[in-house]
Amino acid sequence: MLSSGELHDITIIGGGPSGLFAAYYAGFRGLTVKIIDSLPELGGQLTAAYPEKYIYDVAGFPRIMARDLVRRLVDQAMPYAPILSLGEHVQKLDRSGSPRLRVITDRAEHWTKALIITAGLGMYTPRRLKGAESFEGRGLYYTVTRTEEFRGKDVLIIGGGDSAIDWALHLEPVASAVTLIHRRQQFRAHQENVRRLLSSAANVKLPYRPKEVRGEEQIREAVIVNTDTRQEEILRVDAILACLGFSSELGPMADWGLELEGNDSIRVNTRMETNIPGVYAAGDVAHYPGKLKLIVTGFGEAATTLVGQRLGAGEGPAARRSGIYAAWLAVATMSAFGVTYLLFPSQWMALFTTDHEVLAYGRTLMWIMALLQPPLALALTLKGALRGAGETRVVLYAAFLGGWVVRLPLAYLFGIQLDLGLVAVWLTMWLDWWVRGAVVLLRFRRMRWTEVRL
Ligand SMILES: Cc1cc2nc3c(=O)[nH]c(=O)nc-3n(C[C@H](O)[C@H](O)[C@H](O)COP(=O)(O)OP(=O)(O)OC[C@H]3O[C@@H](n4cnc5c(N)ncnc54)[C@H](O)[C@@H]3O)c2cc1C
Repeated sequence: MLSSGELHDITIIGGGPSGLFAAYYAGFRGLTVKIIDSLPELGGQLTAAYPEKYIYDVAGFPRIMARDLVRRLVDQAMPYAPILSLGEHVQKLDRSGSPRLRVITDRAEHWTKALIITAGLGMYTPRRLKGAESFEGRGLYYTVTRTEEFRGKDVLIIGGGDSAIDWALHLEPVASAVTLIHRRQQFRAHQENVRRLLSSAANVKLPYRPKEVRGEEQIREAVIVNTDTRQEEILRVDAILACLGFSSELGPMADWGLELEGNDSIRVNTRMETNIPGVYAAGDVAHYPGKLKLIVTGFGEAATTLVGQRLGAGEGPAARRSGIYAAWLAVATMSAFGVTYLLFPSQWMALFTTDHEVLAYGRTLMWIMALLQPPLALALTLKGALRGAGETRVVLYAAFLGGWVVRLPLAYLFGIQLDLGLVAVWLTMWLDWWVRGAVVLLRFRRMRWTEVRL
């Protein structure tokens, strides 16, 4: 077994978006970092499951292809020269040398002062389409890694969750025809995406389930059945994309003595600490009440692990500097986007609509949106840091002040008294976020939050 014996400040298990952002953040704070991942490439689910899908919900990017987001995350982390140990499966954790930790993989051992687990869904496998397994590699897919493979084809998508609907929207402009079937009348997906799907050219059939897949070398047709009437239909298809969910489990990490939630998640407190000293978790793998498994959630949590790591090490002033620096960095980045909204509002809107009336009206709103970026960045970053330190009351006060004391009266003044229409909504929001940003900044600059006991 290989062992460099070199001690790193932080070792990150999982090189997905959360792990990459944690690597950047740690490097930026002057810590030495190592990333271990079982896959040969960085990017986690974005690289392995959907490199060519567009993502619409990463702050600052109206839309970005998963592969490009990974490239940017890698560009952001690499200047700090993290050591990469790819293609290694983490198996054991040895705490006998505490406070040093020894992480053992199938190929090597790694020494570290602190460990951040960003292992996502751990070992995850898509649920198979029963009875059709022989068509895997011959037209039956569980994800889309190359959009071009679907060009000009008749595609049947099976499923009613976010993935099924995302893929239907993604493939609809490329494929010759897209049919989506789901066994229930209701979807389990973002409402906005369901709305887009229903107004797209995709053929949506509810409630239907697959009965049989037919073909020789390649898939040729699918028999589907209406679950209410039992009536069968034969569809001519070249490809089937089965989005039936997946099973996931932590694998060997489940035996480390970590407090778990189900098979695949690790319980953390508001500093993203697990029950094992020196071990943190962030991203999809971390669990707390109200958790959302999204890329942006992982970014915030990754930053919190570093603030938490400083606090855990009794370094309150360093934690405060990390938070303030992160906030100004966020303000600078989002303001840069704001400037582009100010200068090119029509070009931004043209990405989404060609309607002249919307374009003319939206310009003012884009300008207000531009001015909204700095307070939004400030408030969101510092709220995350305060929550991470366990200071949740100030966050609640800020939300109360913004929502009830600022937003409500101003909405009345601008919307009803001055009759400013939609502009009233955006103006009110702008002022609300300035107030929230100021409240959390004032509290953050004072050090009392570093003394909160968890
Ligand atoms: C089809 C699909 C579409 C999605 N679309 C969106 C979207 O539009 N917007 C959005 O916000 N989210 C989306 N998501 C969810 C998003 O991909 C996840 O929230 C995100 O990838 C979580 O990042 P992560 O870094 O926490 O984990 P992951 O991306 O899962 O990365 C974890 C990494 O850890 C590694 N690992 C695990 N166990 C070990 C081990 N024992 N040893 C070594 N390495 C290990 C894995 O190999 C993996 O590379 C989508 C997910 C899917 C499947």
